[in-house]
Amino acid sequence: MRGKMFYRAEPEIQKQESFSRLLRYLKHYVEPYHPYLRKRFHEEGIDLNAIKSYDDFCRLPVITKADYRTDARAFILQPKFPGREHQIPYDTAPIARKMLLKYLSQAIFDVPHDFSGYFRKNKFKEDKVGRRAAWEWLPIHFHGSAGTTGDPTPAAYTAYDIWVPIREMAHFVFSRPDKLVPGHRYVQFTDRLMNLFPGMPHLAFFQTVISKFLLGMSSFDTGGGNIMPTQKQIEIFSKQNFQGLTAIPSYFAYWIRQAVQAKESGQIDGLNDLYAVVLGGEGVSSTLKQYFRDMAKRAGAPDYFHCIESYGMTEMKWAFIECYDDYGMHLNPKFFFWEVLHPETLKPVSDGDPGVVVFSHIDWRGTVFIRYNTGDLAAGGIHWKRCEYCGNTFPILKGPIYRAVKDFTKLKGTRVSLPEFIRIIRDEQGVRNFQIIFDKETHDDEFSRDWVRIRILPERGVDLSDLENRVKKQIKTYLEITPNEIIFESDEEKFNRELFAKVGIKAEYVIDLRPQPKMEH
Ligand SMILES: [Zn+2]
Repeated sequence: MRGKMFYRAEPEIQKQESFSRLLRYLKHYVEPYHPYLRKRFHEEGIDLNAIKSYDDFCRLPVITKADYRTDARAFILQPKFPGREHQIPYDTAPIARKMLLKYLSQAIFDVPHDFSGYFRKNKFKEDKVGRRAAWEWLPIHFHGSAGTTGDPTPAAYTAYDIWVPIREMAHFVFSRPDKLVPGHRYVQFTDRLMNLFPGMPHLAFFQTVISKFLLGMSSFDTGGGNIMPTQKQIEIFSKQNFQGLTAIPSYFAYWIRQAVQAKESGQIDGLNDLYAVVLGGEGVSSTLKQYFRDMAKRAGAPDYFHCIESYGMTEMKWAFIECYDDYGMHLNPKFFFWEVLHPETLKPVSDGDPGVVVFSHIDWRGTVFIRYNTGDLAAGGIHWKRCEYCGNTFPILKGPIYRAVKDFTKLKGTRVSLPEFIRIIRDEQGVRNFQIIFDKETHDDEFSRDWVRIRILPERGVDLSDLENRVKKQIKTYLEITPNEIIFESDEEKFNRELFAKVGIKAEYVIDLRPQPKMEH
């Protein structure tokens, strides 16, 4: 199924097509050339030829960050080329003959045209053929995500990634309904964007930059507030009549408040052409989106101003946006296969039910994941359907999105393992259930001290002051922090309701009410 047919297909047909593409990719690219998965499949006795249905596919292991963190390089596709086998320290297959023939014919016909020939004499085999192979397989770009653990887990891109999956997916920013809605403002090919994402090897920043070159779309990449002062950005935006913005929600909150101030004090004329902001890098609630709409209007934006949410992560190598406010993130089904699994059993849930987002790459080179557990709980699940707004068919992700398991956090300046924290309290005699809450001493003041509150539902008949002392002592011993408050609960039903309140599918043992940190990098 080619071109727009794929994105206009009936959901069931599109899903089937996505799955067929995935199976072909698994057999011809992942099994032979993916060091980690090749080994893992062999160890687990998985025969990819026997996988025909989605049920069969569910026998494949679900991969987590822990698997990836151990050896990130083993997740990069690495075929062995004749004479260069020693360069690859893993057991992978030799490059397929038909691919070698492809590079050979590309070299003969000079496709894609190689400009380096203007400036040097290329040798046929090493240079002309080798270059075509490198274009497909050589990692040329990396996004980091040191995360809270400090271990670098980069995702690698080859030129093929940029020019095949990314080039097609990037064009989604131009999506709009066939029948235009009066009063709505749609993206124009000539719109000018200001990119406020910090200039770092991070997906959000580079997605915006790479897109503009692939799309021929205008953007001014400020590099963020640390590179160009916010005040200056706002002046330029107003003076040059920019139309769109990309930003991290926490920085945009600051930016738009400054813009309102500048407008109200007469320093700037106003953000009179600002019609949309695309938010990325952090989650955003509907209340926050509404706040942004109100503030943008105060800063001079027209009534049709809107906030677009996005969803992505380093491992995914791409982030997905909404076609319009609140219609959900349109995940790409051609270059990814999407699943929503129950966070504990890892069994598929029904379409639209809450669960953890799991993805597989299709037709990528460089870093590749199959059945990667993002750890993101989508409360609204994924709906594979034709979008009521833009009319295209997509797996549509509905938020809000929560972290299923966060590994570490900083508390009172100390790095604390959350699974450890949970284990310590759960294992203490006399604890029936519990919840750990991180807050600030003064909730609204992000500079006040961290405040740790533990709610405990005790077993009946337990000596409460003894239990409190034991819990405090264990936490002090293992985590080197002291909780500020221990609250004993007595209404079990009410407590459990609150524990499962947010997502309804998983207990929330840890709640972090502190203002969100800026961006993981
Ligand atoms: Zn849509």
